[in-house]
Amino acid sequence: MDIKSRIREIENFPKEGINFKDITTLLKDSDYFKYAVDKMVADLKDKNIDYVVGPEARGFLMGAAVAYALGVGFIPVRKPGKLPAATANIEYELEYGVDSLEIHVDAIEEGHKIAIVDDLLATGGTVQAVAKLIERLGGKVEAMEFLIELEFLNGRDKLSEYHINSLVKY
Ligand code: AMP
Repeated sequence: MDIKSRIREIENFPKEGINFKDITTLLKDSDYFKYAVDKMVADLKDKNIDYVVGPEARGFLMGAAVAYALGVGFIPVRKPGKLPAATANIEYELEYGVDSLEIHVDAIEEGHKIAIVDDLLATGGTVQAVAKLIERLGGKVEAMEFLIELEFLNGRDKLSEYHINSLVKY
C-alpha cells in the first residue's frame, strides 16, 4: 500500500514556504489507517513497551490507536496549562523563540519502557523534548514511531541514541 497516496500536501500552510503534510486524508481511509497503525505495532511488538506517549494533537490520533492495537496504555504530552494534575514541564527551542510541553508527573515510573508516536519528524525538536521529559521521570525511550519523516531536515542527527521508525520519507 502506498501511504504517500493518502497524504495530502498543502503548499504554504500554516505559513509561506511550508509544505504541510495533511494526514486527515489517511486517517479517513480505514484500510490505510489500519495499515499504518499495524506497521508501527509490528516494529514495536518485540520491544516490551509499557506505554505509548503521544504529543498533541496529531500524536494523540496515531498514538492512541497504536497503544490500543499493541495492548498498552496511552500517555498524553500537551501544551502548557492543558493537563489537570501535577505536571513536569520542558522548554525547547523553535526556529524563532521557545515552546514548552507538559506531562503528568505520575504518568511514568522508573524503568517504564516507552514508545513515542507522532505524525511527523521534522527538525526533531518536539520529539527530543518529549524524550527528555520521559527520561526525567525515569522512563526509558525504546522507540520513536512516525508516519512521515522529512529527511532533508536531518531530525535523526539529534536523535542518534534512539531507535527511529518512519513509514514514509520525503
Ligand atoms: P519538529 O519538532 O521540527 O520535528 O516538528 C514536528 C512537529 O511539527 C510534528 O508534531 C508535526 O505535527 C509538525 N510539523 C512540522 N512540519 C510539518 C509539516 N511540513 N507538515 C505537517 N506537520 C508538520
